[in-house]
Amino acid sequence: MKYIILVERLDTTPDGTGIKQTQAYEYVEGERPEETLKRITGFVAICQCGKIVGAMDFTRTPIKDAGKILGQWIGEGCIVEPRFTSSWSANIESCSCRAAERGEG
Ligand SMILES: [Zn+2]
Repeated sequence: MKYIILVERLDTTPDGTGIKQTQAYEYVEGERPEETLKRITGFVAICQCGKIVGAMDFTRTPIKDAGKILGQWIGEGCIVEPRFTSSWSANIESCSCRAAERGEG
């Protein structure tokens, strides 16, 4: 099993107040965390037809919004796949099976 661990970090800003940052890590069950924890920088949603139908930059998305988006993707039956590199890109494609559901296909 793979899990996603959310870590809330308080960074101090120059004016003395803090800014809360949420970071996500992937943890693989049964493995040593120090070796397997990978910082998640984003998520992509892969439809059942195999097409990438959504992408989210986790480093820039507020945690509440991220939760909503992830919930929506899972509700639509998508596979949510994390991304780990600092720069990644995804080609968003229009999904043919959803068009068929709406009667457009
Ligand atoms: Zn599809």
